[in-house]
Amino acid sequence: PSLRGADLPEDAPELDKALRPQSLDEFIGQREARANLKVFIQSARMRGEAMDHTLFYGPPGLGKTTLAQIMARELGVGFRMTSGPVLAKAGDLAAILTNLEKRDVLFIDEIHRLNPAVEEVLYPALEDFQLDLVIGEGPAARTVRIELQPFTLVGATTRLGLLTTPLRDRFGIPTRLQFYTEAELCQIVARGARLLGVPAEEAGVLEIARRARGTPRIAGRLLRRVVDFALVEGDGHLTQVLADSALTRLGVDHLGLDGADRRYLALLAENYGGGPVGVETIAAALSESRDAIEEVIEPFLLQQGLIARTPRGRMLAAKAWAHLGLAAPAHVAQGRLF
Ligand code: ADP
Repeated sequence: PSLRGADLPEDAPELDKALRPQSLDEFIGQREARANLKVFIQSARMRGEAMDHTLFYGPPGLGKTTLAQIMARELGVGFRMTSGPVLAKAGDLAAILTNLEKRDVLFIDEIHRLNPAVEEVLYPALEDFQLDLVIGEGPAARTVRIELQPFTLVGATTRLGLLTTPLRDRFGIPTRLQFYTEAELCQIVARGARLLGVPAEEAGVLEIARRARGTPRIAGRLLRRVVDFALVEGDGHLTQVLADSALTRLGVDHLGLDGADRRYLALLAENYGGGPVGVETIAAALSESRDAIEEVIEPFLLQQGLIARTPRGRMLAAKAWAHLGLAAPAHVAQGRLF
């Protein structure tokens, strides 16, 4: 989403691709999900059947697309990729489905944004590998049934709650992706530095990992920016001093929060006495979409215990007041958040 891009420049897709893990063994973190996928992939291979439909959900940049690509590779099948908003008409989906080969993986990103008419066509395709297409209009309209090759749908969404129940129920393997630990992000950054051919000090790697918002995509992006500074202003080595100064110049603070995160927290503190504030109000005040607030900014702030969601709206927690360098109101300081 645009939000992160506003604060940090996006990278070229080729660079992104260079750092993508190619196999489950190369993929760092998400241990439980990985262990399960390994079993399901192997079982599908042994049976010679298409793997069950799989849904990945969780905040952006945690590896949903990467895992889908790895699944196809480890299953030894083809990979097709599209997204909910791109599939405007039933015919768009039909064109893709009829071109799939046996056991292929079809990846649909942002699957919560599928048009309902397209979703209707998807149900029989998922269940019976059949397409029921209506041809023509009015009295001349008729339905034709097309048999499809068995395939695996891999859906990805940042918002599980926005999926319709019938769609959700058709995924045999729903998998939640978690934010990464500091240790996992260290491995990811160290691997990235190795692939970029940049000598890296352990403390420099840790500095980036700590400030990556629990997210591999952000870790990769920060790494590349720090490497830019190391090449131009340092001696090409990734050191802790250099990482710290580069990240501070990029507006990424010690918790890994960027400008958008801090604007969010400051708004609640300065304009609303710490809340509760409704999400619509926050979105309007920050000129951001509600989706961006809920999908991109809030999950990490919640995970870090900086904010809390209450029935009456969002509230700042004591940790956020401390982070902003402000005195918390008495009820928060005394631990009575609500
Ligand atoms: P999502 O689809 O969840 O938004 P992606 O799969 O596109 O996330 O991953 C974003 C970036 O992070 C990619 O460049 C990918 O290479 C990197 N990445 C994701 N997960 C890992 C991981 N476990 N190890 C290393 N890099 C990862």
